[in-house]
Amino acid sequence: MTLLEDAASKEPLELFREVTEDSYVDFSWQRRWKEETGGRLLGYFPVYFPEPIAHSLGFLPVNILGASGYIELEKATAHTQSFVCSISRSTFELAATGHLDHFDALAFTNICDVARNLSGIIKRNKPDKTVVYLHMPINNAVPHAKDYLYAEYGRLVEKLEPISGRKLDMEALRRSIALYNEKWELQHRMEQLRIERPWLLPYDEYYYALRAGQLLPVELYVEKMRSFLGEVEKRDRKQQDKIRVLVLGDFCEQPALPLMRAMEDAAYLVYDEAIIGPRWIGRVNEAEEDPLMALVKAYTDNLRPLTTRYHPLIDKQQHIAELVKDLRIDAVLFLVPKFCEPALYDFVIRKLALDRMHVPYVKLEYEESETTFENARMTLETLAESIIFG
Ligand code: SF4
Repeated sequence: MTLLEDAASKEPLELFREVTEDSYVDFSWQRRWKEETGGRLLGYFPVYFPEPIAHSLGFLPVNILGASGYIELEKATAHTQSFVCSISRSTFELAATGHLDHFDALAFTNICDVARNLSGIIKRNKPDKTVVYLHMPINNAVPHAKDYLYAEYGRLVEKLEPISGRKLDMEALRRSIALYNEKWELQHRMEQLRIERPWLLPYDEYYYALRAGQLLPVELYVEKMRSFLGEVEKRDRKQQDKIRVLVLGDFCEQPALPLMRAMEDAAYLVYDEAIIGPRWIGRVNEAEEDPLMALVKAYTDNLRPLTTRYHPLIDKQQHIAELVKDLRIDAVLFLVPKFCEPALYDFVIRKLALDRMHVPYVKLEYEESETTFENARMTLETLAESIIFG
C-alpha cells in the first residue's frame, strides 16, 4: 500500500495525530512522501511563510515547529546560548543531528533576532543545505512595502526553481492559492466551532487537526479535514460549567500538549494563537490579476494584529478589547515562551488594555522541555474559581 493509500484509509483524527507525532523529530511521513512521489520538501520556521509558492513549484511545505521536548539538546547546547527560546534550540538540534537532511530547502523569516540568527547558524553548520531567509517588511504601511515583498518572493522563487526543476507558472500558483484558501476556510470553521461550542472539540483534537494542516499535502488535508469537521459538528456532548479563556502568546513556540490538557481541565480555551501564521494570513484574493501580488497583499494589507508585525493602523489594545467582548471572554491566559521577546513586548501592551477593562489574567511561561504542569493547572484553576464563586 502506498503512503497516500494508507493515509486515505485512516480516520482523519488518527492520521492527524500520527503525522503530528511523527513530525516532532522523525519526519518519516514526509520522507516517504518524497520517495514515493518524487516531490521536493521545504521546511519553514514559524510564523508566516507563503506556502502556495512552494506548493506550485512541486514542494510539500512543512512547518518546522520545534521538537516539543522529544530530542536531547546536545549540539544546541554547544552552539546556542542557554537564554534563547527552546523552539530555536530544538530546531537547531534537529538540523545538526541530520533530522532535517531530507528537506531540500529550509526557510526562515525575520520574526525576531533569534529566528534571523538561527537561519545563519544552520547555514554555517549545514553549508550544502539551501537556506532561504526572507526579509519581510517590518512596517507594512510604507509605500514601498508591496514592491519590496514582491521582490523578496521573487528571490524565493529563484532559489526554489533550480531545486524543483520547474519554472513558476502563474496558473499553477493560482490553483495552489485556491487550495490553501480551502484549507484556511476549514481551519477557520474549526476555530469558530471552538469559539461557539468548545465542549465539542477537546484541545488536543483541535491541535492535531490544526498542526496536521502544516504537515500533510494540502489536497489530502482538505479532504480529511472536511470529513473530520462534519463528524465533530454532529457530536452530542454536554457543556460544562467552565470559564471562557483567551490564550495569547503561543504564536511561535508550541506549548506542550499535556500543558494545554491541564489548562483545559480548568477552563474552556476558546481561542489561542497556536500556529497562527496561516490563520492570520486568511483568504488570499483569487481574483487578483497577478497571484504573486495577491500573496504580497495578503501580507502587507492585513490589518489583523500579529506579534512581531507593526502597522500604524493597528491598535493592539483595541484588538484585545474587541476579542474579549466578541468572544465573551472571562479571563486571559498569557502563555509566553520563555525568553521570547516579541511575546513579552506584546504582553505589556495587552495587559494594560486588560487592566483598564478590569479583565482578570494570569501569565505563565513555558518551554519545550517541561514535564510537570501541576502548578500551571492550579494557577488557572484558582483564577477560574475566583471568577465562578466570585
Ligand atoms: S519563540 Fe519568540 S524568540 Fe523564539 S523564535 Fe519564536 S518569536 Fe523568536
